[in-house]
Amino acid sequence: MIKVVFLGPPGAGKGTQAVRLAEKYEVPHISTGDILRAAVKEGTELGKLAKSYMDKGELVPDDVIIGIIRERLSQTDVKEKGFILDGFPRTLAQAESLDAMLEELNMPLDKVIYLNVNDEEIVKRLLARGRADDTEDVIRNRLEVYRKQTAPLIDYYSSKGLLVEINGIGEIEEITKKIEESLGLNG
Ligand code: AMP
Repeated sequence: MIKVVFLGPPGAGKGTQAVRLAEKYEVPHISTGDILRAAVKEGTELGKLAKSYMDKGELVPDDVIIGIIRERLSQTDVKEKGFILDGFPRTLAQAESLDAMLEELNMPLDKVIYLNVNDEEIVKRLLARGRADDTEDVIRNRLEVYRKQTAPLIDYYSSKGLLVEINGIGEIEEITKKIEESLGLNG
């Protein structure tokens, strides 16, 4: 059972590392960005709403995101294997809701993995990635939103004694190893 949150700026490698861990240890990978992009692709009501925020690099409203996570966490694979949260929580309100949900499920977090990458490297990586919302203006806004709304979660989880900071620059494999060590996994 693994129960972790990946925290860090856009482009820090949260998705890359979350997928590697999820595959290796067979733990559900829950990416709110992936869930929203799938909804956009399907053209659902959620997708239409989400797209208007995602296109600008703004956050989708908390109640919408919290609803998605509440439903996903209630599924049996999570009960059996835990979860790797990637891109959630992104605001204090989301983090507090997550706390309440996990308490209800009796599934306390093991750790919050904070992947730290400097701004210069982030912009470089995101421009290279070339996703629809990876244009220069949108990237700048996403960084701003990250700083204002998401970065306070570093202190939030640090004060709970859950935060592990890992340098997000380096070989993917090496970073995975550090994450595994911090979670007490053998690798
Ligand atoms: P990501 O793939 O995590 O970079 O997310 C892409 C976009 O989806 C973000 O820029 C937001 O617009 C939206 N999004 C993803 N996760 C969240 C979240 N937890 N809260 C609000 N918006 C989110």
